[in-house]
Amino acid sequence: MAMRRRTLLKVIVLGDSGVGKTSLMNQYVHKKFSHQYKATIGADFVTKELQIDDRLVTLQIWDTAGQERFQSLGVAFYRGADCCVLVYDVNYLKSFDTLDNWHDEFLKQASPSNPNSFPFILLGNKVDVDGGNSRVVSEKKAKEWCASRGNIPYFETSAKEDINVDAAFYSVAKLALENDRDQDIYFQNIPEPVPEASQTGGCAC
Ligand code: GDP
Ligand code: MG
Repeated sequence: MAMRRRTLLKVIVLGDSGVGKTSLMNQYVHKKFSHQYKATIGADFVTKELQIDDRLVTLQIWDTAGQERFQSLGVAFYRGADCCVLVYDVNYLKSFDTLDNWHDEFLKQASPSNPNSFPFILLGNKVDVDGGNSRVVSEKKAKEWCASRGNIPYFETSAKEDINVDAAFYSVAKLALENDRDQDIYFQNIPEPVPEASQTGGCAC
């Protein structure tokens, strides 16, 4: 029987307050949507298991508890993330304009070993609103931003109508898994430290 390894992947979801981060996670994990606006939820993260090729993967998806309004999420939130999901509301320009801040803030706080290739994904949420008539950020504009930030994958979603939510998070899991593998390779290549007794040359003093 083939050995199955379970992999835990940490994913964090960032973006302005109100863009639908909690709703997207609820739709993905619990298949539920609520119109009620709840800025705070109790848990720090939700988990979802999925299979990617031969790997059983547990996605640990971290939500902010409303602190994103103050941009003070604390280092524990960012630590050890394998993928960062950025969310904006296609009907609200400001939430698109602040993506640069979220992107840079993530890199600053998480300080990943591979900042230039660290996996991000962008979700343009609430595409259902008003049948698309109140939309202010075009798909083209969003894709241009993604290209300028190193070809970030882009999905247009609706947490309400369950549009593209599974596809987006599947892509998140795949990217996170790839990043996790790269890290393994990176660590494998670190040379063993030389035991002190066998070191030659010694100290010049
Ligand atoms: P968060 O602050 O980013 O976590 O945003 P929430 O998930 O709390 O959502 C803010 C508000 O937008 C709530 O009233 C949600 O019901 C609503 N909402 C979230 N996603 C969608 C969506 O895809 N379509 C519509 N029409 N409303 C949404
Ligand atoms: Mg929320």
